[in-house]
Amino acid sequence: MLRTKEQYHESLFKMRPNIYIGGNKVGRDDPMIAPGIKVYDISFDLANDPAWKGIATAHSPIVNKEVNRFCHLPENPYDLMLKQKLIHLGSRRAGGCIQRCMGQDGITALAVCTKEIDEAKGTDYHARFLKFLHYYIENEIAGCCAQTDSKGDRLKRPSQQENPDHYLRIVEKRSDGIIVRGYKMSITTAAYAEEMAVVPTRALTEEDQDYAVAFVIPSDTEGVKMVTRPVWMRGKDSKDSNPYCQMGVSDSVIIFDNVFVPWERVFMCGEWEFGRRIALLFANSHRHSYCGCKPAISDILCGTSLLAAEANNIAKASHVREKISEFASASALAYSAGIAAALFGQKTSSGVFFPNEIYANVGRRLTGELIYHEYNILTEIAGGISATMPFHEDFEKGENVEDLKKFIVRNPNFSAEDSLKIWKFVEDLGCSPISAWYKIAGVHGGGSPIMETISLNLDYDYEEKKRVARYLAGLDPELDDSSMLDLAPTLGTSLV
Ligand SMILES: Cc1cc2nc3c(=O)[nH]c(=O)nc-3n(C[C@H](O)[C@H](O)[C@H](O)COP(=O)(O)OP(=O)(O)OC[C@H]3O[C@@H](n4cnc5c(N)ncnc54)[C@H](O)[C@@H]3O)c2cc1C
Repeated sequence: MLRTKEQYHESLFKMRPNIYIGGNKVGRDDPMIAPGIKVYDISFDLANDPAWKGIATAHSPIVNKEVNRFCHLPENPYDLMLKQKLIHLGSRRAGGCIQRCMGQDGITALAVCTKEIDEAKGTDYHARFLKFLHYYIENEIAGCCAQTDSKGDRLKRPSQQENPDHYLRIVEKRSDGIIVRGYKMSITTAAYAEEMAVVPTRALTEEDQDYAVAFVIPSDTEGVKMVTRPVWMRGKDSKDSNPYCQMGVSDSVIIFDNVFVPWERVFMCGEWEFGRRIALLFANSHRHSYCGCKPAISDILCGTSLLAAEANNIAKASHVREKISEFASASALAYSAGIAAALFGQKTSSGVFFPNEIYANVGRRLTGELIYHEYNILTEIAGGISATMPFHEDFEKGENVEDLKKFIVRNPNFSAEDSLKIWKFVEDLGCSPISAWYKIAGVHGGGSPIMETISLNLDYDYEEKKRVARYLAGLDPELDDSSMLDLAPTLGTSLV
């Protein structure tokens, strides 16, 4: 038996309360956090379902046993494809973000970067990290990744900020560890993750070396305070609420108030030259993950638009068929970019197989920014009912119930009860706090569009394209297209 959701809950609810919501300190059993925990539960249930063995699970060479795939580091293209498939699968069940990939992407970044720092600097971070990784995988830990600093004045580097806490930094080095302080923000699942991987958010200069710090600590470590913003549906947690309404998410501002991190958990300490590398490793791994969840979000919006079209009895209208096809292209485009990123990924010196940055970035960028358009299609097909519908209770009690039951049926093939379920779901999906969350996440989650532009401009070979144009224009007599030879998957050594 792999780790179950009950075992996860048991350890979670024992953690030291360090979460604040609306000015109150709350425990991890607070009902406002529960909708996010319910999403994590899906990842445990899938791993324990024999139907998904080999997809939701993987053989880990680190602990030499089958584990939850969300704790496994990909070793080859097929592993990466299965990671993407699992995210797609879980996200469809969760009604959106499956929320386990941030932790996995953070651990991936640390696995790759600790090895590279050691190779360049002769440090011993990687061996230290592998020891930690053994514990992490053996116990199938549910983790998150805290990368985004509060950043203060966007035009100033970390060391130039008026308030130095705007970026997390080392304030003291001791014989047994380091002390860190500063603010991270928008950290999804931090309130119900057991461990948090902490990595820098941007390229650093020598002046910023105190900000070059990476580690993993339990989320309830002394000095860590989380101001958490839960997002969930209209307080609906009754047995009648639809599966979608039972799910939710929480993001946290994390205050690190002189937090002690023991050396065995420190995986970067002052190596400012690797700030950009580790920031991009997390971001690019996460953008590949997005190629798994975004297709699920498009699928859900597609299915709901079709349902709304049927309920409006316009499913056969030509403009509806045309609009629906846009979901198919968004979903398939993101998914195929993820497969390409996996297939043309690269074996890193750590043994981790890393997705191709270009394919991961375009998948994330093109389909992430499409999200407002996709919500617009749902709105166009459904009409304005999602914003103006009476409360559920009005359909259940009071003197207007019979009229409302007649009012809600548009297509007589649907009963009043099913029509109400459809239109309430359209409201939940298209006009609720969580739909707003998904729109913003589509633009900024995994890095805002400019970050993807920067990433693409670093990796995409524009000169090579110019060479093709020069040859075709007759400026150069020969075409050097040897770079095309690189377009083959690279395989290498194993993680252990
Ligand atoms: C729903 C959601 C979930 C998230 N989950 C996580 C998570 O789990 N872990 C995590 O680490 N992060 C998470 N994030 C944070 C996410 O990575 C950031 O939102 C993203 O990187 C953008 O950063 P920002 O929000 O600070 O926006 P900013 O970086 O402030 O961007 C705002 C604008 O300012 C511009 N800008 C910024 N800096 C400069 C500059 N130097 N020069 C010129 N222009 C500039 C940008 O181009 C952009 O147009 C999440 C975000 C969202 C919305």
